[in-house]
Amino acid sequence: MPYSAKNITKRKFDVVIVGAGGSGMRASLQLSRAGLNVAVLTKVFPTRSHTVAAQGGIGASLGNMSEDNWHYHFYDTVKGSDWLGDQDAIEFMCREAPKVVYDLEHMGMPFDRNPDGTIYQRPFGGHTANYGEKPVQRACAAADRTGHAMLHTLYQQNVKARTSFFVEWMALDLIRDAEGDVVGVTAIEMETGDLHILEAKTTLLATGGAGRIFAASTNAFINTGDGLGMAARAGIPLEDMEFWQFHPTGVAGAGVLLTEGCRGEGAILLNSNGERFMERYAPTLKDLAPRDFVSRAMDQEIKEGRGCGPNKDYVLLKLDHLGAETIHKRLPSVYEIGVNFANVDITREPIPVVPTIHYQMGGIPTNVNGQVVVQTRESHNAVVGGLYAVGECSCVSVHGANRLGTNSLLDLLVFGRAAGNHIAEFNEKNREHKPLPADAADRTLERLARLDGASTGEYAQDVANDIRSTMQRHAGVFRTQASMDEGVRRIAEIRQRVGAIALKDKSMVFNTARIEALEVENLIECAQSTMVSAAARKECRGAHSVSDYERPSDDPVAPMGRNDAEWMKHSLWHSQTNSLTYKPVNLKPLTVESVPPKVRTF
Ligand SMILES: Cc1cc2nc3c(=O)[nH]c(=O)nc-3n(C[C@H](O)[C@H](O)[C@H](O)COP(=O)(O)OP(=O)(O)OC[C@H]3O[C@@H](n4cnc5c(N)ncnc54)[C@H](O)[C@@H]3O)c2cc1C
Repeated sequence: MPYSAKNITKRKFDVVIVGAGGSGMRASLQLSRAGLNVAVLTKVFPTRSHTVAAQGGIGASLGNMSEDNWHYHFYDTVKGSDWLGDQDAIEFMCREAPKVVYDLEHMGMPFDRNPDGTIYQRPFGGHTANYGEKPVQRACAAADRTGHAMLHTLYQQNVKARTSFFVEWMALDLIRDAEGDVVGVTAIEMETGDLHILEAKTTLLATGGAGRIFAASTNAFINTGDGLGMAARAGIPLEDMEFWQFHPTGVAGAGVLLTEGCRGEGAILLNSNGERFMERYAPTLKDLAPRDFVSRAMDQEIKEGRGCGPNKDYVLLKLDHLGAETIHKRLPSVYEIGVNFANVDITREPIPVVPTIHYQMGGIPTNVNGQVVVQTRESHNAVVGGLYAVGECSCVSVHGANRLGTNSLLDLLVFGRAAGNHIAEFNEKNREHKPLPADAADRTLERLARLDGASTGEYAQDVANDIRSTMQRHAGVFRTQASMDEGVRRIAEIRQRVGAIALKDKSMVFNTARIEALEVENLIECAQSTMVSAAARKECRGAHSVSDYERPSDDPVAPMGRNDAEWMKHSLWHSQTNSLTYKPVNLKPLTVESVPPKVRTF
């Protein structure tokens, strides 16, 4: 047996951050600059984290190109969330937005510029001026490579601030002491296969999304929801996991994303009759309605026989009228993606697109400081000592049931910075580490022993593929109660198989089979929380659209089955019991008036 308590090395830091995407590196920057000893673990080189793939922009009401202010941004985000977002967190994010964008500018982020030297901003879905009246230019962009520019800027600043990176290290489990406080993580060093304990006064999870629980996804292959799996195994519930965003414009058949910035620049969606069908569904915002709206409209067109191609199973995104010059200047990556993944020159002809899994609105519950919170008898939001979460793996919740484009990069910056500040303050007051419990590595050793002990069993790859196809079939754009119930049964069966995964190759050095098997144990937590939370929510809200609960309405896609009286509440899924509890949505902003719930039309 290679793994035992005897051959684990131990290291100590003020803070351990798991994840070197935009959120993790924004937090680490704040901490390294404050002089703390910070370790950042990442499965891949920092600048290969999924943030690098973000294309369209960062939302902030700078008002550089059209009149704007944070009140409009706040209103749009609440409405976009279908009233499941917490309005205190949304106010916090929208007010902080200009500040974190200017911070980035001062760090040297190469934003596109207007002739007067200010940051270029493009329109984006669901972002409006004057409370829904017309689209506004709010997305701060660096061509269609905004995430690339942002991640490189943050990495360079972290190198300058002397953050320690542990590259190709995979965190496996949280270590909680008898009081329930988190005192560090266990991690495997991929190159050697060695097991380590990293002790910390504070642990921050920034592991990104779990988009790889679906078969067709815009997400990177590393997005396996590891932070969510770690939290779930350590007894922390997962919030609002039924809400998954389908991005309207994934390249049909390839899954690769074409940014909403295309439509921001003026691209339009067409059905097989050559009709700009969004005019019917969202008369004011048209192609720039929020993503849940546009995805449902596209699916509806396909269902009613107006899809394109031999199988009538996609619609078209038309860009050629923007002109080759604009396309090459503002959307150079989209041009390349067209050629490489669809064999289409978008300056000349439209490109086939379908709604594709893109983003998880739910995650590890936190407050606006990034502190992880759980329900106790006294409180819905009791802080877990020593544990923070930021970025896509967290649920603060600013996106509610549907995220607006550009609000994720913003969320990473705002809450990464806020968590960094809060942790630095905590560190000032707490000079000592809490002692490590005697059973610190037991959970991890058990998992490794199970994998290495079995000589026959399931292949990790087969189990992972079955998770993905099951989620794709039973938790898609349009859901039915019967299909979700079936999904719950199937995922429960697959969970049994996860426990029977065996490693054929038990070697230590760069054993990617072991890494993959460990990832599947995270995938299943994310998949089961999604399926169970979805089947339990008997309404339509945001991205959760269930035909059984649609009320008759003149509007073919508005989620008319929203049931605020019974369901305006956050779901909390508990892994140990595979059961749900709920907590109220915070409708009270910090300083302004609440946006009262109403029907969403655009
Ligand atoms: C193609 C695409 C385009 C997008 N475009 C936009 C956009 O224009 N605007 C916008 O606002 N949003 C956009 N989004 C969403 C946004 O980019 C993501 O939500 C965001 O970048 C996630 O950042 P993160 O810091 O949470 O995680 P990530 O950037 O995904 O980073 C996760 C990090 O965690 C590490 N990690 C994970 N598990 C472990 C582990 N077990 N041990 C150690 N390290 C681990 C990884 O190595 C990585 O460093 C886009 C998303 C995609 C997929």
